[in-house]
Amino acid sequence: MSVQVAAPAVELKELSGPMDKAAGPPCEPVAAHPPGHGVAAAPCPLPATEREAAPASSSSCGGSGGGGERPPLSGCPGLSVATKVPQASAMKRSDPHHPQHRHRDGSDGGGGPAAEALVSPDGTVTEAPRTVKKIQFADQKQEFNKRPTKIGRRSLSRSISQSSTDSYSSAASYTDSSDDETSPRDKQQKNSKGSSDFCVKNIKQAEFGRREIEIAEQEMPALMALRKRAQGEKPLAGAKIVGCTHITAQTAVLMETLGALGAQCRWAACNIYSTLNEVAAALAESGFPVFAWKGESEDDFWWCIDRCVNVEGWQPNMILDDGGDLTHWIYKKYPNMFKKIKGIVEESVTGVHRLYQLSKAGKLCVPAMNVNDSVTKQKFDNLYCCRESILDGLKRTTDMMFGGKQVVVCGYGEVGKGCCAALKAMGSIVYVTEIDPICALQACMDGFRLVKLNEVIRQVDIVITCTGNKNVVTREHLDRMKNSCIVCNMGHSNTEIDVASLRTPELTWERVRSQVDHVIWPDGKRIVLLAEGRLLNLSCSTVPTFVLSITATTQALALIELYNAPEGRYKQDVYLLPKKMDEYVASLHLPTFDAHLTELTDEQAKYLGLNKNGPFKPNYYRY
Ligand code: NAD
Repeated sequence: MSVQVAAPAVELKELSGPMDKAAGPPCEPVAAHPPGHGVAAAPCPLPATEREAAPASSSSCGGSGGGGERPPLSGCPGLSVATKVPQASAMKRSDPHHPQHRHRDGSDGGGGPAAEALVSPDGTVTEAPRTVKKIQFADQKQEFNKRPTKIGRRSLSRSISQSSTDSYSSAASYTDSSDDETSPRDKQQKNSKGSSDFCVKNIKQAEFGRREIEIAEQEMPALMALRKRAQGEKPLAGAKIVGCTHITAQTAVLMETLGALGAQCRWAACNIYSTLNEVAAALAESGFPVFAWKGESEDDFWWCIDRCVNVEGWQPNMILDDGGDLTHWIYKKYPNMFKKIKGIVEESVTGVHRLYQLSKAGKLCVPAMNVNDSVTKQKFDNLYCCRESILDGLKRTTDMMFGGKQVVVCGYGEVGKGCCAALKAMGSIVYVTEIDPICALQACMDGFRLVKLNEVIRQVDIVITCTGNKNVVTREHLDRMKNSCIVCNMGHSNTEIDVASLRTPELTWERVRSQVDHVIWPDGKRIVLLAEGRLLNLSCSTVPTFVLSITATTQALALIELYNAPEGRYKQDVYLLPKKMDEYVASLHLPTFDAHLTELTDEQAKYLGLNKNGPFKPNYYRY
C-alpha cells in the first residue's frame, strides 16, 4: 500500500518564501518509507483499513503546464513518488479528538445537561449519596429534532457521521436569542443586497460575526498573505467550491480567501453543533450562500448539504470536505456531478478513511488530497497545540497551580512531548511512561524520569494519558491513586483510562463542575476525573486560531493544487499534499515571527543535491 505524493502543479507568484522563484531541476525521487514508519507501536485505535494506504499507482507530473485553465506555475515537473506513509496517525478536525471541537466557553456544547454542582458554596462536599450519579455520557445517543422534511429522516442508508454529531461549541454565542425557536428553514431572510440564497439562524447577527472574523484574521497571516498575492492572479478563477466544514470565524477567513482567489463557494456545516451563527450570518451578508446554524437536526444537516449542491445553474467543480459527508451525499444523490469535479480535498481522519476505501474499491472517480496527514498540520495539531492546551484544560477545570506538582505523562509521542514540555516549564516534576525504547530514551534525554506507572501511581498529583492506546490507566491504578489525584486524557477518545471500571455501585460520582467529576471511594478517597476520560482539550479548552490557520492554509493550497493540476497529473487516487507546498504553508507563517529564513547558496544546494527552492527534505524525513 502506498500514498501518492506529487510535485506541486502550482506556484503562486510574488512570494517571499521558497516558492518565490522558478523551480530548478526536477525533484529527486525519494526512497520508500520503511514499513510501519510513524505508526505507534501500540495497537492503533483506528480500524485496520484506516491504517492502510491507498494502492500504489504512479502519479505522472506532466510537466509544468497550467492545466488548461490556469497559466503554468513552476513546480517540480517530472516527479513521481509513491511512498509508504502512516495514515491518519493523528487526530483530526472532524475527528472528535480534534482541538477544533472544543468549547470556548468550557460548556457542554453537546446539549447535554448543565453541570450539577454538588459542592457547597464554601467548597466542601456534602456526604455523597451511595449511588452512582446518573449523568449523560458523551456516547449516549443524541436526540434529534424529528422535524419532518422533504428529504426525510434516514434518507441515506447510513446514519449521520460521528463527526457530524460530536459536541462542539466554537464560541460563546452572545447574540443568540433563546426565545427564537423558529427553524431557520421556516424563515424568509434576505441580506442587505436582497439575496436570499442562504439559510442561517438570523441574518441580523452579521455585524457581530464580522467582528469575530476580523479577530480571526489577525492570527491567520498566511491566508491574508495569499489574498494579497492573489491580487494579480486568481488561481481559483472559475472554481466552484462546495464546502462542508465547521463554520467558524476561521473558516470564514478561509472562505473569503478562496473568494479573493477567484472561487465561488457554497457552504454547509460538517457538524450540527459547531456553527457560529453570527459568523454564518456575516458570510451570508457578504454574499456567500451558507446553509448552517447551530443545533441543526439530522434532517436539517442533510438538507443544508443538499442546498449547497442541488442548485439550478450552478455545479461544483471542487469539494472541500471535513468528515466525508458531503462527498458521500454527492456520490449517493448526484453521481453525475463527478464528471465536472476536478478534485476532493479532505480534512479529517474519518473522511480520508472513506476516500481510501473508495479508492480501494475502485470507486473513487476523481483525485483526492489528504490534507490531514501533511507534516505542518500534524506538528501543529499534536505537538504545539497540545503543549498549549494541556495547561489551559487543567487550569480551567481545576484552577490548579502546576509548580511542584508531581505529574506522570503516559506516552512520549508528539502529544506526550508537548504535555511534558509545558508542565516542566511550569515547574512540575514530570515522570514519563513509555513502551517504545526510542521514545523512552528521548524522554530521558529531555530530562524526564522514565518509570512504570505502578511505581509512581501512589504519589502523583496528576495522571495524563497520551498514548493512543487503551486501558493504560486501569481500575487497579485508579484504586491506588492518592486522594485528589487528577486524572485526564489527551490521547485517544475515552479508551485510555478505564472509565467504565469506575461505574460500579461502591463508587460515587459527583459532578462538581462541567467536565469535572469526583469519583469517591467508600473510604472517602476521591479522584478528580476530567471530561469523563475523553480528550481534555477537546472538552475543556480552546484551539488557538494560529493552529487553524495552518489547517486552513493547507486546505486552500490543496484546492489550488488540484484545481490547477494539468490533466493526468493526479489520477483517481488519494494524494498527500506535495512536500513543497507543505513547506510553503510553513513559510507563509514565518513573517508573523519576523523570522528570517536562510537561503541555500548555489554551492550548498549542489552539495546537498537540493533545489534551492525546496523541497528540502525527503518524504521519509521525520521532523
Ligand atoms: P504517537 O504515536 O506519537 O505517541 C504515542 C506514544 O505512546 C508512542 O510513543 C507509544 O510508544 C506510546 N505508548 C503506547 N502505548 C503505551 C502504553 N501502554 N504506555 C506508555 N506509552 C505507550 O502519537 P501522538 O501523535 O502523540 O498521539 C497520541 C494520541 O493523541 C493519538 O490517539 C492521537 O489521536 C491523539 N491526539 C490528541 C490530540 C489532542 O488535541 N488532544 C492531538 C493530536 C493527537
